[in-house]
Amino acid sequence: MTVIPIERAERAAPSRRPVLEARGLTKHFPVRRGARQAVVHAVEDVTLTLPDGGITAVVGESGSGKSTLARMLAQLIKPTAGSVLLDGEAAPARKRYARQVQLVLQDPFSSLNPVHSVRYHLARPLQIHGVNGARKGPGNGPGNRQSLDSLVTDLLTRVSLTPAEQFAAKYPHELSGGQRQRVAIARALAVQPRILLADEPVSMLDVSIRLGVLNLLADLREREGLTILYVTHDIASARYLADVIAVMYAGQVIESGPAARVTDEPAHPYTQLLLSAAPDPDRAQPPSLAGRGAPPNLIRPPTGCRFHPRCPHAMQVCAQDRPPAAEVALGHSSACWLHAQGLTPAQSRPLLGADPNTDRKPGPDAGPGPVPGEEKR
Ligand code: ADP
Ligand code: MG
Repeated sequence: MTVIPIERAERAAPSRRPVLEARGLTKHFPVRRGARQAVVHAVEDVTLTLPDGGITAVVGESGSGKSTLARMLAQLIKPTAGSVLLDGEAAPARKRYARQVQLVLQDPFSSLNPVHSVRYHLARPLQIHGVNGARKGPGNGPGNRQSLDSLVTDLLTRVSLTPAEQFAAKYPHELSGGQRQRVAIARALAVQPRILLADEPVSMLDVSIRLGVLNLLADLREREGLTILYVTHDIASARYLADVIAVMYAGQVIESGPAARVTDEPAHPYTQLLLSAAPDPDRAQPPSLAGRGAPPNLIRPPTGCRFHPRCPHAMQVCAQDRPPAAEVALGHSSACWLHAQGLTPAQSRPLLGADPNTDRKPGPDAGPGPVPGEEKR
């Protein structure tokens, strides 16, 4: 995808009020391996703040815990530990919460019901949540229908599906992937949320139409002041869209800061690795790290820093203790022992024998995917 360099760091002004916060969010999925019980450490102690009217990106490889984090933030799954705060207070119960926080999923093909029209998909949340008096029930007369239609038209116009009347009458199979994703976004907007959580909203779309959907998200923030969490495996698109980037590795946030800084001057060796794999015409000198190994098994994640088996800079301390987040610049932090002060010579001794391929070996616990019958995603 074409990346247009835009300096958005100034939008990440720390003075913006936090609207949604993850505090120490943790999710452990119990799974069964034959007769044995095991636990997938999918998300571990993630703290993240979504500033009002800002776009925050969560970036990481597949399996790094991004969707699990987004689902906890949407209250679709319960955290094992930690909490979600809305406007600084414990998040309200599901229905009241859903009016403020909506989730858009990756797959626009499975998220719309093929037997229902676009109008139905958009009218339903309007009725269920009673938006602008649109309610389900015996009171639904022609007048109500009229106002429902105008609300549906308004939603379709906001996501640039025009002429809206024509799109309202269409069925999902008559739409392209990008148009379907726009309908999914319109459906999320129907309840007039303040916060949109978008889980890989463009990764299943044709490269040629991704930019249009990303620009729609940028417009919604610009025009309507929507607060957005943009979840992606593509750090280049995160730089394009977001003010702030949080990088996840093996269930933990390992670096966060203004998007331009994190991508121009990545502090954490993992972010450097991620960037070296991402084409970015905007970057003059790609970081020099070559690919090393694969992400760890989350049933038995590495001790200390979860990245240490792949890290070319690994020291003794990295295998023992989890690195604290250190501020490397204003608003830019990295959880890496390289940025810590006062390590003893023993702690900073290079870790010999750190084998980047260790975690690739298929062991009895390999492939920590969900097991049928376990908690639904
Ligand atoms: P991402 O969205 O970054 O690809 P996920 O959040 O989907 O990552 O998954 C993180 C880890 O949690 C993966 O190892 C995945 O297999 C595991 N996982 C996700 N959901 C479940 C579940 N319901 N049961 C067991 N393991 C799960
Ligand atoms: Mg995912």
